[in-house]
Amino acid sequence: MASNGSDAVASNGSDAVASNGSDPATGAYGRSAPATDLVNPATGLVVATVPATSAAQTDAAIDRAARAYGSWRQVAPGDRARLLRRFAAQVDAHLEELAELEVRNSGHTIGNARWEAGNVRDVLDYYAGAPERLVGRQIPVAGGLDVTFHEPLGVVGVIVPWNFPMPIAAWGFAPALAAGNTVVLKPAELTPLTAIRLAELALDAGLPPDVLTVLPGRGSVVGEAIVAHPAVRKICFTGSTEVGTRIMAGCAAQVKRLTLELGGKSANLVFADAALERAAATAPYAVFDNAGQDCCARSRILVQRPVYDRFLELLEPAVRAFRVEDPALETAEMGPLISAGHRTSVSSFVDGAEVAFTGSCPEGPGFWYAPTVLLARSPAERHWRQEIFGPVVSVLPFDDEAEALALANDTEYGLSGSIWTRDVGRAIRVARGVESGNLSVNSHSSVRYWTPFGGMKRSGLGRELGPDALHAFTDVKNVFIGTDG
Ligand code: NAD
Repeated sequence: MASNGSDAVASNGSDAVASNGSDPATGAYGRSAPATDLVNPATGLVVATVPATSAAQTDAAIDRAARAYGSWRQVAPGDRARLLRRFAAQVDAHLEELAELEVRNSGHTIGNARWEAGNVRDVLDYYAGAPERLVGRQIPVAGGLDVTFHEPLGVVGVIVPWNFPMPIAAWGFAPALAAGNTVVLKPAELTPLTAIRLAELALDAGLPPDVLTVLPGRGSVVGEAIVAHPAVRKICFTGSTEVGTRIMAGCAAQVKRLTLELGGKSANLVFADAALERAAATAPYAVFDNAGQDCCARSRILVQRPVYDRFLELLEPAVRAFRVEDPALETAEMGPLISAGHRTSVSSFVDGAEVAFTGSCPEGPGFWYAPTVLLARSPAERHWRQEIFGPVVSVLPFDDEAEALALANDTEYGLSGSIWTRDVGRAIRVARGVESGNLSVNSHSSVRYWTPFGGMKRSGLGRELGPDALHAFTDVKNVFIGTDG
């Protein structure tokens, strides 16, 4: 490591304990911790067994991360940037390995998993540009000089769900590290493998030990210990609204900073003047991608009544053609659900509902579920109101713009959504009217690492990604320096 700041990195690295929450004195994760069998969702077979971190081991890892913070925040901005770029380069060099790991552990299609590993690389590269640009202000005052600093917070706890293990981890740890914090990261019980590998790649890139620590284990043990530990100054949580609400209450006790990315029930609004063929051809991807296990899934399709029948006619072949198969195949568009239990939960929403048509899926082992289109008889139906988090979409007609907006907003959630119309004025009116953090017009895109992402209402608090996310990992400090004598 050339240039100043390198000594801090090298010396901090010398009293290394391995990252990933391991401890040389007790062996990886300690002897008594129970192990979790990880199952390939496409086969139902065990692919790995990962020891679970105990509450005591979590506390010890946080203590080490708090000590590492003292050195990490002192690393010169240019060197911290360089280390993050090296981390990004390590991810890029291992992109295929990470993607294949995600296919086995999470059942993601290989195409998606490559995008996800590439997203980690890109998010690291993007925030690697931040340490040298984390500028404060000089504010005119009488009798001296007034300046502001964006100070890091300390240890940041990143708690990740199972649906996008890699990107969601990186959306937390990349800006947190760039701002000078250290990170303890808890992956979901079912999907820890890529996070564990990413922490190893961080060490290989030269990040000092205990700067990024991955602690696999249970939410009720590791997650709660992270929230409760006073040295953890911020929680960055992505997951269900139910658990997020509990975490918010836990943070309140210590006035701990908090970002929440929670559930969704997003609307895809198709107006009669839309490019109907494209709207129908793309709608399956907007909800069945990642087997519908996507907080941004457009799981409610609202279609203006004059084109309702035609839209369904166009949607049916697109759904039937959706390729649900072994996610390791290059042609796969959708893999299995994450677990048998989750499949039971998804199918409970279809029982008793009016099925318009379905796609197909493999038979036999694995947690397969065919893409399913339901007709909502009213907005009161359970499948219309609740987040299903599976490949199930509900369709409902509407009459005019006012009704479309009312139906779209008739939900506790507000994460994303799409608007299909050729009328620019309507597109803008409706985009301003829908209570969601991320909307797309004549498109279904939600996430770009350089634009802000997050939810309104009970879909979340705060924003990730984009140019401002860094400030969510800092506090502003104001310093006045008197010049009068
Ligand atoms: P979950 O809330 O069950 O778990 C999320 C994480 O929290 C896991 O790591 C879990 O172990 C941990 N956890 C559980 N209980 C905890 C506790 N008491 N204290 C601390 N941590 C605890 O969510 P999930 O089932 O893994 O993920 C699905 C949910 O995530 C869906 O609701 C989905 O919409 C949401 N999600 C939201 C976004 C977004 O950006 N808004 C993105 C992806 C997923």
